Amino acid sequence: MDSKEVDFSFFSPSPLSSSTRWWSKDTVAVVTGANKGIGFAVVKRFAELGLTVVLTARDVGRGKKAMETLREEGLGNVHFFPLDVSSPASIHALVSWLRTTFQALDILVNNAAVSFNEINENSVEHAETVIKTNYHGTKLLTESLLPLFRLSTSVSRILNVSSRLGSINKMRNLGIKATLQKENLTEQEIEQVLEMFAEDVKKGRWESRGWPEIWTDYSVSKLALNAYSRVLAKRFEIENGGIGRRRRISINCFCPGFTQTAMTGGKGSHTPQAAAQLAAALALLPPHHLPNGSFFLGFGPYNKSRL
Ligand code: NDP
Repeated sequence: MDSKEVDFSFFSPSPLSSSTRWWSKDTVAVVTGANKGIGFAVVKRFAELGLTVVLTARDVGRGKKAMETLREEGLGNVHFFPLDVSSPASIHALVSWLRTTFQALDILVNNAAVSFNEINENSVEHAETVIKTNYHGTKLLTESLLPLFRLSTSVSRILNVSSRLGSINKMRNLGIKATLQKENLTEQEIEQVLEMFAEDVKKGRWESRGWPEIWTDYSVSKLALNAYSRVLAKRFEIENGGIGRRRRISINCFCPGFTQTAMTGGKGSHTPQAAAQLAAALALLPPHHLPNGSFFLGFGPYNKSRL
C-alpha cells in the first residue's frame, strides 16, 4: 500500500445529501461481527439511512439482542442471521438464506475480526485462530457472496474493515514485502506468505523473521486481507472491462483508527459511532465517486491511498 496523500475532497461523511442518495429500502447490506463495537454501529447507521440491513453475529443470543435493541429504537429494517465467519457451514447457511430471502446483495461490510492481545502485549498463542477468522473467514464469505452481488441492480460494494497495522510498511522482511507488493500478486502467493508465518510461529522464530512488530498475528492477518482486497479489486477491474468502464463491484479497505471497543479494552481516540459514520459514508459513496482498490484511513494524517 502506498500512503501518499490524494484528493479526498469528494468524501463527506455527513450529511449524506439526497442528491447523492442512490440507495433505497430495497438495498441490502450485510455486516459481519455486528453484535457490538464498530459493526453494531455500522448496522445502526445503515438502518437510520433507510437500507435493509442484515446484522450477523456468531452468537445467536448476542446477535438477537443487538437486533432487538435497534428495533426498539424504531429501526424495523434490521434483520438478524447467525454467522461465524470462521465456519464454512455457517457461511453456507447465510448465503442460502440471503438467496431465498433477498435474492441479491448490494453491500458487504467485512467487519468481524479477533485479536487476543491487550494493547501492549504481543503473544502469537492464538495466531491460527486470528488468521483463520480475519483472513480465511473473510475471504471465504466474500467469495461465497460474489454470485449474489452479480444479481444486484446497483454497483455493489465490499468494504473490508482492516487496520493500519496491516500496512505494507509494517513488514520488515524485505523478501515477503516485495512479494506482497508485486503488481501481479496472486491469492496463492498471499496464502504462501501466511503458511510461512504459521511455520515461523510453530518453530518459535517469528520474532526474528521481520514480521510486523505490534500485534504480530493480527497485523499479518490484516496485511493479507489488504493484499487479497487488492487482488480482488484487480479481478473486478478486468471482469468489468478495465479501468474507466462502468464497474459492477467495488472493493475497498477501511481502517477505523484507534476506536473505543472491546478489542482495545475500551481505549481509543473516538467512539465506534464516529468510526461507523465514516465506514457507512464510504460504503455508500455515489457510484461516480466510488473507487476500487483503495485503502481509507479514518482519523489519521492521510485519508486514502492505493491498496
Ligand atoms: P470488537 O471486538 O468490539 O468487535 C469484533 C466483532 O467481531 C464482535 O462482534 C465479535 O463477536 C465478532 N467476531 C469475532 N470473531 C468472529 C467470528 N468468527 N465470526 C463472526 N463474528 C466474529 O472490535 P471492533 O469493533 O473494534 O472491531 C471491528 C473491526 O475493526 C475489526 O475488523 C477490527 O480489526 C477493526 N479495527 C478496530 C480498531 C480499533 O481500534 N477498535 C482499529 C483498527 C481496526 P463476539 O462479540 O461474539 O466476540
